[in-house]
Amino acid sequence: MTNPQAKLQELKIHLIEVNDLEAANALLYWDQSTYMPEGGAAARARQSATLSKIAHERFTDPGIGKLLDNLRPYEESLPYDADDASLIRITRREYERAVKVPPAFMAELTSHQADSYQVWAAARPQNDFARVQPYLEKMLDLSRKYSDFFLGETPGYEHIADPLIDVADYGMKASTVSARFAELRGQLVPLVEAITAQQPADDTCLHRHFPEAGQWTFGLDIARVIGYDFGRGRLDKTHHPFTTEFSIGDVRITTRVDEHDLRNALFSTIHEAGHAMYEQGVNPDYEGTPLAGGTSSGVHESQSRLWENVVGRSRGFWQFYYPKLQAVFPDALADVPLDSFYRSINKVQRSLIRTEADEVTYNLHVMLRFDLELALLEGKLAVRDLPEAWRARYEADLGAFPADDKDGVMQDVHWYGGIIGGVFQGYTLGNIMSGLFWEAALRAHPEIPGEIAQGQCGTLLGWLQDNIYRHGSKYTANELIERVTGGPLTIEPYIRYLRTKYGELYEL
Ligand code: ZN
Repeated sequence: MTNPQAKLQELKIHLIEVNDLEAANALLYWDQSTYMPEGGAAARARQSATLSKIAHERFTDPGIGKLLDNLRPYEESLPYDADDASLIRITRREYERAVKVPPAFMAELTSHQADSYQVWAAARPQNDFARVQPYLEKMLDLSRKYSDFFLGETPGYEHIADPLIDVADYGMKASTVSARFAELRGQLVPLVEAITAQQPADDTCLHRHFPEAGQWTFGLDIARVIGYDFGRGRLDKTHHPFTTEFSIGDVRITTRVDEHDLRNALFSTIHEAGHAMYEQGVNPDYEGTPLAGGTSSGVHESQSRLWENVVGRSRGFWQFYYPKLQAVFPDALADVPLDSFYRSINKVQRSLIRTEADEVTYNLHVMLRFDLELALLEGKLAVRDLPEAWRARYEADLGAFPADDKDGVMQDVHWYGGIIGGVFQGYTLGNIMSGLFWEAALRAHPEIPGEIAQGQCGTLLGWLQDNIYRHGSKYTANELIERVTGGPLTIEPYIRYLRTKYGELYEL
């Protein structure tokens, strides 16, 4: 073909424009969640919808499709992992997904999501599942329709959930995810039973009084020492902590502070810093293109959880940082030994709320939601029977029985304000991958745990940057796992990690 570089340049200019509209929209959202006065809400919703619409129109412009067609011979002449080939490949994947869904359907889905969210927000405190049931039924119907735009058309889809899973975790199949989850459940249920048969850890020390100012300074320090770059980011307060990026040079995190629960700000800050370090570590050459940004929700969660749990809840990390934490809060912690603090931040208990669950039970909450999603999509479970099915699974998997739907089937916004299918698996895939990547990092650098116990996280961060972060979205999660570990997704390293840590904590 003639002059592929000119065509590629044209494509990049187009993509950067789309990216700029999306970044402006992300900034509107960040502002809304941090500093915007209440009075701004109505106009902000409209402004955000306007930018989304323009960005979608620009991205689905047939001109992009034409450029991608023209660039195919050039792409095929390059190695698979060349930057140009990857940019064309990933753009084509996103473009084909975007153009397969008719704009009228997207409008219907978006408007139903907004209505359904409003009804859920009002019905949940009233414990009124009957009120949300018709909205959830319509959401299920729309989720199936969304999937139908791809099924049959796209080779490789075997299950109605596959196209939905692809949106967040491209390349993961319902069949593989189900199989790995079933293995994990088989290991976790007895582990939780063995742990909870013992005397629970006393974590009252975490609920003493921790003045906000001290939590804030300590949180900033911890984010900095693990490697979050404040020259290219900042930390602000919000209700529901999140990470957002406007460019590789501006990746922001948010947290919330509870003066009577030390865990809140501390661990959500480390979690979000983990997400943000991934984004900050992407190759700067990918700026403004679909190659910038993390590759999947599972890989993203693997990073937030690796830093939050594997590092941030480890004994070594606190051997170094606990005296510093005690110095900030002498009234609350002077009489609490390191060992009690370590046991407190790793307390395992059967509970009903996913977002408050500990590291060991958390995946059981996620996997039962994934299975229920599949059953709904397959038509094996009716929405009206969902609350009952929910209770049965909580009893079977967690030995905990929700007294009401508020803290049962209505606790998460995902199905009510999003879509049914493909929204939960990323959390547990992330935990599984955190074990895989941690083991691989230790194979390359056995000195990492010793360094962390000296307050040094640089070797681990450097390994993650080289092997995961810098690639952005170039590789799918499965490709990345294959490159890093030489094999497919497997639960064994994660199980080994849990068994070692909790085996020692609970003398199992
Ligand atoms: Zn996260």
